[in-house]
Formats: sequence, C-alpha cells, structure tokens
Amino acid sequence: MPSSPPSRVRLGISACLLGQEVRYNGGHKRDPFLTDTLGNWVEWVAVCPEVEIGLGTPRPSMRLVRLGRGEEAEVRLVTPETGADHTAAMTTWAARRVDELAALDLDGYVLKKDSPSCGMERVKLYPEDGGAPTKDARGLFAAALLARLPHLPVEEEGRLNDPPLRENFIARVYAHARWRQNEAAGWTRAALMRFHEAHKFLLMARNQAGMRRLGRLLGASAKGEDTAALAAAYRSGLTEVMRRPPTRRGHTNVLQHLAGFVSDLLDTDDRKELTETIERYRLGLLPLIVPVTLLRHHARKLGVAYLHGQTYLEPHPHELMLMNHV
Ligand code: SF4
Repeated sequence: MPSSPPSRVRLGISACLLGQEVRYNGGHKRDPFLTDTLGNWVEWVAVCPEVEIGLGTPRPSMRLVRLGRGEEAEVRLVTPETGADHTAAMTTWAARRVDELAALDLDGYVLKKDSPSCGMERVKLYPEDGGAPTKDARGLFAAALLARLPHLPVEEEGRLNDPPLRENFIARVYAHARWRQNEAAGWTRAALMRFHEAHKFLLMARNQAGMRRLGRLLGASAKGEDTAALAAAYRSGLTEVMRRPPTRRGHTNVLQHLAGFVSDLLDTDDRKELTETIERYRLGLLPLIVPVTLLRHHARKLGVAYLHGQTYLEPHPHELMLMNHV
C-alpha cells in the first residue's frame, strides 16, 4: 500500500475564502489559515456558485425561503430586493458542476459558512411571510456537493478555527487521499486489510467499536468475495468513523496501546518518561504532539516496523503543526 500521501492534495473551496472579490457586496472573506498555511500543501479548486450561474458582483443579497408547509414545503433561493428566484438556475448548474468536480480527484472541500449557496449547515431559512428565520438549512450548492460526493471530507471555514475540528478535517483529507491512491491501484482483499492495518489507530482514536466493526467486516469476508462491494462497505464505515473528531480520552487510549509496542524494549527511565508523558497529555498539560513525537522516536530507534506504517503517528504534514494545538 502506498503509505505516504501525495505531496499536494487538491481541495475545492468557496472562492471568496481565497480572497477573490466575488461576494454580493464586492468583497471577499479571505481566510489566512487557508491561504497562508494550508495553501502551501494544497492545490485549490475555487468555485463561486453565484458568479458561475451568471450573477454579477456586486449583486443584491440572496436568501433561502421556505415556500409551503409540511411535506409540500420547498426551499427556494431568492433575491428579496427584486423577487428573482434563482433556484432552478442554481440546482441545474450545481448538478453539472459537482459532476465536473467529481472527476477532479478532490480530497476535501472548504465551504463558506452561512451562505445560502455554500453554507454546509445552520443556514438561515426564512418563512414566506418574511418573519424571523430558523437556522436549519443548507446552501443549495453545498447540498448538491454533499449528495454527489458523500465520502468527501467537507468543512466550513468557521469550524476550522476550532483546533480539534481542524486537525480532524485535515486527517480526513489525507486519509481520503490515501484511499484514492489505493483505489487507483485497484483494491484487493489483501490491500484493504493493509489499509485497515495502517489506519487502525487513527480509527480507534475516534471510535474503538467502529474500528473493530471495520476489522470484522474484512475478517469475515471470504476469498473470492466481490472486492468492489467489500471496498464500498468498508469505505462507508471509514467515512462514518473518521467524521467524528477524537477526544482526549480516545487519543490517550491509542497512545497507551502504541506504548505497549515499545515498552518492553525500553529501559526503566525511558519507560517511565513515556508513561508520564502520556499521563500529562491525558491531564491536558501537554499537547498531542509531545507523546506522538516520543513514540515516533522510540519506534524509529528500536526499529519497531509495525509502528512505522501507522498513519496515526503521521496523519498529515508535520509543518501544519496540527497536533501542537490538540
Ligand atoms: S459564499 Fe459561495 S456564493 Fe457566496 S461569494 Fe463565497 S463562493 Fe460565492
């Protein structure tokens, strides 16, 4: 299995987050983490749905409006100032555009929060009579994207200000890239097993029962079983488990498991130092990078081959320093 992800991953992004002046007011929402830090590792595919359906910049602002009630209710994308309804134009264009994006080998997508086109969740939805909105809708382009690419890691820029959510999103992006690399080489049952082995602790940190379920799924498969169906079932579980950010408790559990692979090979002082480092992480006195670096060091020095292939110890480029803040 190729164990290292591509040097550059390709991510879709709402164009205004890169500083493009495409917002309704002619401005942008440039996000310094995305442009200056993550941007060094990413090839961005910038999309502005509202500009791409032919609306100019600046333009009157739009909103989502609920027409009708109950099961008959429809969500429409409208410009209150002019009464124009852009729903058909946006949904027709979005269906075509997400097909194009699906062919681009994206490994993730960053959407602009709150937008009636790009917002992933909690977008304002106004009642027909112009009363107070609820915050329970999804932008029309975001809805098409998530429906077409259900395994793609997708986040909003606002949520990426939260260190655990940020770390989890990037870990998902690189896991997606590794999955895609393996898929391109062609799945075999043995390749799926190797993938699982390499991602076991990444999964365990998020959901131990989920990790075991995936292991059992592969273990119970028979030789000659339809590999494509097995890969599809595994991938659904992988997406589900990886979506949930790990807790400190989940990480501590994994760190203790990994320590078990080196403890017997360490002298008393080094073993004590490793145990204390994990405990200090558990108590919130150290960031995750400290015990992970110590484990990487011992695994390399002691030549513990099993740990070398563990993506948990190298889930994304070190330079992003994502484990320094969780
Ligand atoms: S939120 Fe989406 S539609 Fe609005 S300006 Fe940004 S990219 Fe364009």
